[in-house]
Amino acid sequence: MRQLVRFALSASLAGAVSLALAQSADQPLTSFPYTPGLDVKAMDRSADPCVDFYQFACGGWMKNNPIPADQARWSVYGKLTQDNQRYLWGILDGLASKTDGRNASQQKTGDYFAACMDEKAIEARGAAPLQPYFEQIDAMRSLRDLPTTLARLQLALNEDGLFFSFGANQDFGNSTEVIAFASGGGLGLPDRDSYLKTDAKSVDIRNKYVQHIANTFVLLGQTAAQAKQSAATVMAMETTLAKATLSRVDKRDPYKLYHKVNAKGLQALTPGFDWRAYLAALGEKDLNTFNVTEPAFYKALGKQWKTADLNAIKTYLRWHVARAMSPALSSAFDKEHFDFYSSTLRGVKEQKPRWKRCVTLVDAQLGEALGQEFVSRAFSPALKEKALHMTKQVEEAMAKDIDSLDWMSNDTKARAQEKLKSIVNKIGYPDQWRDYGSYQVKRDDFAGNVERGNLFEARRQLAKIGKPLDRKEWGMTPPTVNAYYNPQMNDINFPAGVLQPPLYDDKMDDAPNYGNTGGTIGHELTHAFDDEGRQFDAQGNLKDWWTKKDAKAFNERAQCIVDQYAKYVVVDDIKINSKLTLGEDVADLGGLILGWMAWQTQMASMPQQAEATRDGLTPAQRFFVGNAQWACENDRPENLRVSAMTDPHSPGKFRVNGLVVNMPEFEKAFSCKPGQPMVATKRCRVW
Ligand SMILES: [Zn+2]
Repeated sequence: MRQLVRFALSASLAGAVSLALAQSADQPLTSFPYTPGLDVKAMDRSADPCVDFYQFACGGWMKNNPIPADQARWSVYGKLTQDNQRYLWGILDGLASKTDGRNASQQKTGDYFAACMDEKAIEARGAAPLQPYFEQIDAMRSLRDLPTTLARLQLALNEDGLFFSFGANQDFGNSTEVIAFASGGGLGLPDRDSYLKTDAKSVDIRNKYVQHIANTFVLLGQTAAQAKQSAATVMAMETTLAKATLSRVDKRDPYKLYHKVNAKGLQALTPGFDWRAYLAALGEKDLNTFNVTEPAFYKALGKQWKTADLNAIKTYLRWHVARAMSPALSSAFDKEHFDFYSSTLRGVKEQKPRWKRCVTLVDAQLGEALGQEFVSRAFSPALKEKALHMTKQVEEAMAKDIDSLDWMSNDTKARAQEKLKSIVNKIGYPDQWRDYGSYQVKRDDFAGNVERGNLFEARRQLAKIGKPLDRKEWGMTPPTVNAYYNPQMNDINFPAGVLQPPLYDDKMDDAPNYGNTGGTIGHELTHAFDDEGRQFDAQGNLKDWWTKKDAKAFNERAQCIVDQYAKYVVVDDIKINSKLTLGEDVADLGGLILGWMAWQTQMASMPQQAEATRDGLTPAQRFFVGNAQWACENDRPENLRVSAMTDPHSPGKFRVNGLVVNMPEFEKAFSCKPGQPMVATKRCRVW
C-alpha cells in the first residue's frame, strides 16, 4: 500500500560491531545462484497437503534453512534479497577499488561504499559526527529557538523520530497536486502500542528500552545517575506522544488521515510553536496548504512543548539524534544500538557483516544509481516483455472477475472496470533514472555522506510540493525483492529484483510461475480494490465510487476474511490483528484467484503443458506449490511479537493455508475431503 519512502538510518542499518570476520568465507557473487521456481527439496512430502499445505510445500525449506545469526527472520524473499546484495557487493567492490574511468553514478556509489567499509576511519572519529548537531541543540536559549533547530535536525536526519515528520505527498482529494504533509512520529519504539500494552513482555521491553537510552547517554559522557534521569525524561515525553498517536488500524483509514488546513489552521494546533520560523528554516516559507494527518497528535505535541522545560526538550532531541546516528558512529554506539533494536527487540544473534550493511545503505541512499548497474546485468528486455505479458493476462482476468461478480451492481462494475483500465504497469526499473548530481559523496567521510544523502532526499521530497506530479517515479529501487501498488498513482510496480528465480523462473513450466509471480501481480492488482484501495478512484482520488448496497456487500465479504484470520496465532498467545492485515489478506486471496485465472488462459494457448505431470505433481498441484513457495519462512519469536503489532502482512503459514482453504480448485487438485483442515466449511471470497 502507500508508503512514504524515506530513508531512516536506524531502520536500514540495524547495527553493531563485530565485523563478522568469522564469516571470511563470505564472498561477493559474480553470477546469481540458481534456485528453481518449484523446488521439490523445499517440500515435505511426508505431510498431508489437505491437513497442512504450508508444511507440505515449505516443510523442507523450513528444515533446511535455519535463520542465520544476523537475521530476525529468514524467508525465500530474504534469501533472494541477500543473493542480490551479494551480487551488488561484487559490483560495489569493483567500483570502490577504481578511482578513474568511472561515470558520476559509479563514482558516488563506489566512494560511498568505500567510506562505509572503512571501519578504521569510522572508529577513529568516535562520536564526533554528533558534535555539530549537539552544538545546535545546546545553542537553544528558549523554546523560540525550537522551530529552526528542529527543521535543521529533521533535514539532516530525514526520519520521523524528531517529534513529527514533515514531507510531501499527493493530496488525497486531488491526486495531481503534491502538498505538504505534517504527520506523526517522535517515538523510539516500533509502535504506539509498545508504550501502552501492560503485559509482562511489553513492560520488560520498555524497561530495556529505558536502559538502552541511559546506556547511550553514558556513552555520550553523562554519569550513570544523570543518564538514568535523561532516559526517564525521554520515556515520559514519548509516552505522551504515543498516547496521542492513532493506532495502525486507524491509520489504514485514509479519511482519518485527511485534514487539510492553511498556515493559520496549522498554527492554531500548536500555539507556542512558530511554524513560520520552522518553514523558513526548511526553505519553504510560502507554504499555505498542509495535510495534518493526525490533528490530535499535534495538539498533544503543542501542549507538551508548552509544558516541558527546555532542558527536557534538549534531552529528547539529543537522544533521537544519537539513536538515528548510532549505526554511523564508532563501535561502542553501534553495538549499543544493535543490542537493543536487533537483539532485544527482534532476537537477532549477531550483527550483519559490514559489507551487507554498506550495500543496504548504498541501495537506500543511491538506489537508482546502483540500480542501473543491477539492471544492466540482471534484467533483460526479454524478461521485461514476459513479465508484461503475464501482467496483462492477470489484468484481463481481473476484468472477467469483476464482470462475473454476483454481488456488485452494473454501475459499480463499470467504475471498477474504469479503474482497472487506468492502472499503470511499471516493470523492472524506472524509465528515467534519478539525478543525484547535487549529492556530494566523499571517499573519506562516511557520516557526512549519510547526512548529505539524507539532506538530498529531504530536499528532493520538499521540492515536489506545488510542482507537476512525476508519474514516472518509483518508490522502490530496482534490486528490491518486493512489489507495491500505489492507490494515488494508481500504478503497480514490480522491481527487477522480484522477477528473478525462484520467484519467476524462465526455465520452469508455466504452472509454478503463474502461481508465484502471477499471484504476486494479482496481489498488487487486488490492492487497488482492497478495503483501503477501493476508496480511491481511477484518477487516484479519495472519492466514493460505490453504491451503498455494493459497499455493504463488499464489507460483508471482507468481514469473512477478518473473522477467518482473527483465529490464527502468530506467537504464544498473540493472534493476528486481522483488521490490520485485512488489506494484505484480501490481496493474497485475490492474487491467487487471479493468478489461477491467468494461468487457465495461458494453458489454453499451451495445450502440451496442460497434461504434464512433473516431479509427481499435476500441473494444478504445481500451481499451488509454486504459489506457496514464495512464502516459506522461519521467524524468531521476538520478531514475531513486533510483527504482530506492526506488520500488515500475516505470517507466511497463513498467507498460504489461509488462502487454499477458500479455494475449491485446491480441494480438487489435491483430492481433499470436506472436513479436512485445508477445506473451509465456510469459504471466504471478496474478489
Ligand atoms: Zn501487499
